[in-house]
Amino acid sequence: MNPSSPAPSPTPLWDALRRAREQLLDAIFPPRCAGCGCFTADLFCADCASQLQPIAPPLCFICGAPFDVLAKGVEICADCRANRYQQAPPFAALRSAYRFDGPMRKAAHRFKYRGKTSLAAPLAALLEECLKNQDALDAPVIPWEELKLIVPVPLSSWRNYRRGYNQSALLARELAQHLDVPFEELLKRARHTPPQVGLSPRERAENVRGAFALNALLNESQKSSPILLVDDVYTTGATIRECAQVLRKNGATTVYALTLARPWFK
Ligand SMILES: [Zn+2]
Ligand SMILES: [Zn+2]
Repeated sequence: MNPSSPAPSPTPLWDALRRAREQLLDAIFPPRCAGCGCFTADLFCADCASQLQPIAPPLCFICGAPFDVLAKGVEICADCRANRYQQAPPFAALRSAYRFDGPMRKAAHRFKYRGKTSLAAPLAALLEECLKNQDALDAPVIPWEELKLIVPVPLSSWRNYRRGYNQSALLARELAQHLDVPFEELLKRARHTPPQVGLSPRERAENVRGAFALNALLNESQKSSPILLVDDVYTTGATIRECAQVLRKNGATTVYALTLARPWFK
């Protein structure tokens, strides 16, 4: 699955029926593993839990990409070194909790496309864990204790709107409750954008340029306090960069970004 690809369902009615089926099954059967679907009381069964890959240092100082091998003294990944985005990143630090692979990939898919909104709370708990375990990072960290606002990335396309929920908003809201930080859906889509799937990183950046706007202006306190942007999956970062840019252009001093998962490109 590509996180920017359109929802695979053909009609809203089909989506509604599928969601109803999920809810019915949840009501009848005990909770299932978010990875393989076996019955378990935990988010992941023992087998799937053992396959999860938390993103561990060393990380790129700019985009948070994990390095498999880090040459001594190298702090910036090849993409950031190549200045792919041709400008300084609009966020102060970006972190992702897990590699987008195996059981985490399946869980993110169930959460985003299959109506498993009940996964929001346990997945947000993994985000919280990521934020609270940054001590070992030899890279800029997200100062979670100083956050004053948590903002989700808006829905990625009008087709996804039919799902009836924004998975990033569900995650962000749960995380905000866990951390006791205000939550606000400050960002919205300003225009329709074609799906990002199949586009190069440069084309993705072009595709989302100007695609976001604010729902409400930032107040003075929000401008001067650290804001955390939350999304489910980071692909090339084009969307989250554009969202952070909108917040910065509207006065936000410091924006951090956190995603549940990101794929390995290098
Ligand atoms: Zn499992
Ligand atoms: Zn980087």
